[in-house]
Amino acid sequence: MARVVIIGAGFAGHTAALYLGSTLGTQHDITMINTSERFLYLPSLVWVGVGHMKPEKTRFSLRPVYDRMHVHFLPGKAVEVHPDERFVVAEKNGDGVNQQVRVDYDHLIVATGPRLNFAATPGLGPEAGHTHSICTETHAVASRDAYLEDVARMKKGERRKLVVGTGHPGATCQGAAFEYITNIHKDLLRHGVRDRAELVWLSNERAPGDFGVGGITARRRGRLLSSEAFIAAVFREYGIASQVRRGVLEVDENAVHWEDYEGRFGETTYDFAMLIPQFTGMPLKYIGANGDDVSAKVVNPAGFVIVDGIYGRPYETTIGDPQSWPRVYQSPEYGSIFAAGIAFAPPGPISQPHVTPNGTSITAAPPRTGMVSGVIGRVVAKNVIDLVTLGRMTHGERLTEMAAACIASMGDSLWDGSAATITMYPVVPDHQRYPNDDGRDAFVTHMEMGLAGAWMKRMLHSAFRHKLQGRVGWRLIPE
Ligand SMILES: Cc1cc2nc3c(=O)[nH]c(=O)nc-3n(C[C@H](O)[C@H](O)[C@H](O)COP(=O)(O)OP(=O)(O)OC[C@H]3O[C@@H](n4cnc5c(N)ncnc54)[C@H](O)[C@@H]3O)c2cc1C
Repeated sequence: MARVVIIGAGFAGHTAALYLGSTLGTQHDITMINTSERFLYLPSLVWVGVGHMKPEKTRFSLRPVYDRMHVHFLPGKAVEVHPDERFVVAEKNGDGVNQQVRVDYDHLIVATGPRLNFAATPGLGPEAGHTHSICTETHAVASRDAYLEDVARMKKGERRKLVVGTGHPGATCQGAAFEYITNIHKDLLRHGVRDRAELVWLSNERAPGDFGVGGITARRRGRLLSSEAFIAAVFREYGIASQVRRGVLEVDENAVHWEDYEGRFGETTYDFAMLIPQFTGMPLKYIGANGDDVSAKVVNPAGFVIVDGIYGRPYETTIGDPQSWPRVYQSPEYGSIFAAGIAFAPPGPISQPHVTPNGTSITAAPPRTGMVSGVIGRVVAKNVIDLVTLGRMTHGERLTEMAAACIASMGDSLWDGSAATITMYPVVPDHQRYPNDDGRDAFVTHMEMGLAGAWMKRMLHSAFRHKLQGRVGWRLIPE
């Protein structure tokens, strides 16, 4: 009997658990360790953050799903991995007392998502700093309350300045911040106070619409359109001031302090700010057979799991060679360890990096969105199934072979809401297969904006909840 352990029930780990449990669960031992007993549907936190969705609508209980899918569920926190002896130490959630348990494995999937590294930017974040976040349920609720307080002040006649974007020179997840600022715009219109708000987009992107993937070019109504022109037009129409090419270095009570591409230092004042922090890997101790710390063999300095990519090459080489990008997401050092979703270490940025004259790198990190995370979760799960049943792996998908679809909500109303629907193939440009400027398939890569997207975004919320709860036909709904 094989023992498979998954750490983290986000898009990546939970998808892997559904495939593994439904395929192997009755004959083999599949265990999920997750800090929370509930799945959090992160994309809908954008709506929580403007008060349009109750937080409980973004969650569902994992235990009934895992009971049906033949997955053992251990609610708790994994703290140590012993890769030589193949076991994980976890602190079980309990009534105030954490109890340590040992869980042995033959195959381990690390899918722990990001650690929100607010500490990398002094003054950033809702706990020790001055800014808000929508990256966790608690953060989104606090952000909502502060935002609605500002709305109330505007209703009394005050003017407020709201700044949204990235809070670190190397941050990612610009898509979520973009959705938040456009939802704020729509919500302020609804409240009748848009004219009292100054909205500012502050980001480390090379250009608006870069989103950490270098932007895209798509054929739209018979013309080639860049995401930069597309998003810049949205900002113009919505009256959002765009400040890009800025790496946030520090935040105080009144202002966000940044350095720009040219190495100039400046500040953006704010009344309310929601800025995405740097993401690092979730801290886990990797301990060898003799008790030594073997983390350096498993994770990079940022804490992301090193897998089968080619690391340490210059940007141009990495982006120019599809082989640089991992295919099976397996640790080269320990073949029993896989990483999925945000937990794996990308070999480099997708967007062109930039270093200022002062030596600061202002470079949007590669996004690993929910769809990409789910696909990797599936690939890894299918390979583990292969290893258990065939003894060899038959699946693989590099980011240079993977499509991504992003529906960025720009107001959730089904009457006058909108969404920017962006599809791209592949996520990482492949200039060998697509020898155009973009390195992407111009027929598949597409951008559209309109009310239909708002309907689609709503439907996705329901469809994915259906899939992720392992309900009838879940395999038919793509990741
Ligand atoms: C506000 C917001 C909006 C977004 N919108 C979109 C969108 O519209 N479309 C899209 O594609 N993507 C979107 N994303 C990105 C998407 O949510 C992420 O790409 C995705 O969640 C990454 O999945 P993951 O499984 O790698 O990590 P996560 O979803 O972060 O899951 C990791 C899990 O591991 C658990 N964990 C961590 N450490 C441990 C430990 N030591 N022991 C046990 N468990 C642990 C965590 O509790 C968590 O449950 C959005 C993100 C945010 C924040």
